[in-house]
Amino acid sequence: MQVEWKRSEERKTVREIVKIYCRGHHHVRESGHELCPDCEAIAAYADIRIAKCPRMAAKTFCSVCPIHCYAKPQRELILAIMRYSGPRMLLHHPIMAIRHILIQWRTRHGLRKREK
Ligand code: SF4
Ligand SMILES: [Zn+2]
Repeated sequence: MQVEWKRSEERKTVREIVKIYCRGHHHVRESGHELCPDCEAIAAYADIRIAKCPRMAAKTFCSVCPIHCYAKPQRELILAIMRYSGPRMLLHHPIMAIRHILIQWRTRHGLRKREK
């Protein structure tokens, strides 16, 4: 149950991150859709990766994952989206953003400790 909750939270977070990027780049507001077709495609791709993620129990976000199961073009795009939307998440969804930052920090810290 805990794993499925985490999975669903991560899906919601990624979708919000993509929405911020889309609003900033693709003028989707005028179209009346939540996401433009390109952003809908990357959000759907991320959804599939998260659904199949083998690391969900250990809990990490994709940005700090040592596996990186995304194909190269999608990985580059999602990194660009994260770079743009990451700081803006603090304004739009502060609780989600802080939780994300804390999990990233804990994961990085834990990985470094294990590397020593
Ligand atoms: S990159 Fe890592 S955390 Fe993200 S879906 Fe793939 S395996 Fe899971
Ligand atoms: Zn878009």
